[in-house]
Amino acid sequence: MSVSRALYPGSFDPLTYGHLDLIRRGSALFGEITVAVVENQTKSPVFTSEERVEMLKYQFRGDARVHVTNFRGLVVEYCLKNGFNVILRGLRTVSDFEFEYQMALTNRSLAPGVETVFVMPSEQYSFTSSRLIKEVLQGGGDVSRFLPPEIESRMRLKYGLRS
Ligand code: ADP
Repeated sequence: MSVSRALYPGSFDPLTYGHLDLIRRGSALFGEITVAVVENQTKSPVFTSEERVEMLKYQFRGDARVHVTNFRGLVVEYCLKNGFNVILRGLRTVSDFEFEYQMALTNRSLAPGVETVFVMPSEQYSFTSSRLIKEVLQGGGDVSRFLPPEIESRMRLKYGLRS
């Protein structure tokens, strides 16, 4: 039986409770998981990739099953170079499906040995997205149910908003 080594790539800009839910499910499923901040996905991110790595590491301090890294370039290339044979992705809604489906099949044609595995978050996070959180926060809304307090504070600082 071959061993599954899973990579969970994403923008995590910012990290949300939905991402955290997925990371917990992924580490339970695969025994351990590497979360990777992919640097070339968002053109003008709120947080630098180093800041995103730091925030991820903080959330999983003390949890030896969760590793955090960042890279620039193609996810499948990174998987092949670093011995990952599973890409973990989250599926929230039908609207996620189309894009994720295309990406999974493209990645499979580039690297047939790397399988994409989809995991659904808990229902309460199934509509949480980093993009909407940014809009709600900038519009003065309450985002506390979507992301950890220390990440919200750092976002408020970035946007010059009162905490
Ligand atoms: P990307 O730019 O790669 O889509 P994201 O940080 O937006 O980066 O998302 C990374 C992965 O996490 C994607 O598979 C996305 O579907 C998933 N994801 C994002 N938010 C949630 C959530 N609330 N619940 C479950 N999965 C999520």
